[in-house]
Amino acid sequence: MSSPSFENHYARLPERFYSPVTPAKVPRPEIIKINGPLASALGIDPGSLESEDGLGMLSGNGVPEGAEPVAQAYAGHQFGGWVPQLGDGRAILLGELRHEDGSLRDLQLKGAGRTPYSRGGDGKAPLGPVLREYLVSEAMVALGVPTTRALAAVSTGELVYREESLPGAVLTRVASSHVRVGTFQFFYAREDVEALKTLADFVIERHYPEVAGEENPYPALLREVIKRQASLIARWMQLGFIHGVMNTDNMSVSGETIDFGPCAFMDTFHPETVFSSIDRQGRYAWINQPVAGSWNLARLAETLLPLFSEDRDEAVKIAEAEIHEFERIFNSAYFDGFADKLGIERDAENARALIERTLGLLAGSKLDFTVFFTCLTRFQESKDPADLPFAFEGDPDWSGWIDDWQELVADGGSGLERMRRSNPVVIPRNHQVEAAIEAAMQGDYSLFHRLNEALLNPYEEREEYRDLELPPQDDEKVVATFCGT
Ligand code: AMP
Ligand code: MG
Repeated sequence: MSSPSFENHYARLPERFYSPVTPAKVPRPEIIKINGPLASALGIDPGSLESEDGLGMLSGNGVPEGAEPVAQAYAGHQFGGWVPQLGDGRAILLGELRHEDGSLRDLQLKGAGRTPYSRGGDGKAPLGPVLREYLVSEAMVALGVPTTRALAAVSTGELVYREESLPGAVLTRVASSHVRVGTFQFFYAREDVEALKTLADFVIERHYPEVAGEENPYPALLREVIKRQASLIARWMQLGFIHGVMNTDNMSVSGETIDFGPCAFMDTFHPETVFSSIDRQGRYAWINQPVAGSWNLARLAETLLPLFSEDRDEAVKIAEAEIHEFERIFNSAYFDGFADKLGIERDAENARALIERTLGLLAGSKLDFTVFFTCLTRFQESKDPADLPFAFEGDPDWSGWIDDWQELVADGGSGLERMRRSNPVVIPRNHQVEAAIEAAMQGDYSLFHRLNEALLNPYEEREEYRDLELPPQDDEKVVATFCGT
């Protein structure tokens, strides 16, 4: 493999931002999956990743030329509780590569061994969480949701010990950066204003160059992060996605979905749904995600206070004004997206009321969230009542609803067009992801590859993937997901 052209921008930041590390060696690395199109977009010949050097890089067995591996320092609030030092405990940043679109991407190994931030952990990743992250993050791309990506998954040939021994693996994660709200918190907690400014300038240059020219770019930076997070969380909700662990260390300032630990897509719709086995209070339930997001952004705003103004009261006023905007920006993204899913005019007078009524009825009906919207799309096309969700039959609430809905559907086919574009047919359903992982643990990767393939075109109905559209049978339902540790 001719080595990818690594740049090391993060490693050029002051030393207190990271720790230099070396990935751990593993006994028998084998490729599970290479993401060919992503490799090409990063200027890497996909075939070269299967060479000895390529596999060396992806497994941590060899540091590619030009890379300066580091573990990034960060802190964070986990389920509301402050943790002053977290950091990459099982992730190692190799460096940045230039994407064909001109912007930089981080290349990071997840599960490549211990770092100074590992505390009690082993820095390793079991196969299951690696496959889950691969499937779900790449599904997100195809669904049109900003997200970190997966360049490769490799098995290591060693066992990882959790409650039982599990096969180990390494995921190569690609992100537009790995700077988190928790990265800012790390320096804020240490009253290191110089580092905060360096970090904010780094983030502006990397993600928000358009604000660099503003007289005070830092409130503008906060505003842009708020916009991206508000629209990201709205997108998640429109797909029935529950992130599961929206701690401040798992919120990227670039606005990408990051950390696919206990995440899941809902089958039966209920707003209070939680999957994560560690989220006992339902803090990060589907419906609570905007509140959690806005809380995290308030923590980000707090860290930027010293950069807003030397006058503390003035700085707080600036922060409050920006944070106040979250709700409005979120609501508009949320209702616009649901208007698209229903094919109704976004600014119709009754649009928001109809959306709320729809979700209320849906919650009472125990219908599958994804199937509900694909049925409506089919009905909009055929006008055949047989295409409506079966639970509608003879239900007076729903029959009145259909007329009111149809009255608001945009004329001339544009409604249907928007429905098709925003109502996926195939999503990474939890039971399918679990089945793919189960089979992979027995050495059979065919379900994983098939599911990955199907998820590349989530909005297309394809005969060969009909089975993947179906909600789980009662005995297939997965009620809890576990952190990817
Ligand atoms: P998460 O809950 O996945 O966001 O991780 C929270 C913190 O725990 C981060 O600092 C991780 O780097 C660290 N961590 C998670 N799993 C491990 C592990 N297996 N070994 C070491 N550190 C870990
Ligand atoms: Mg994390």
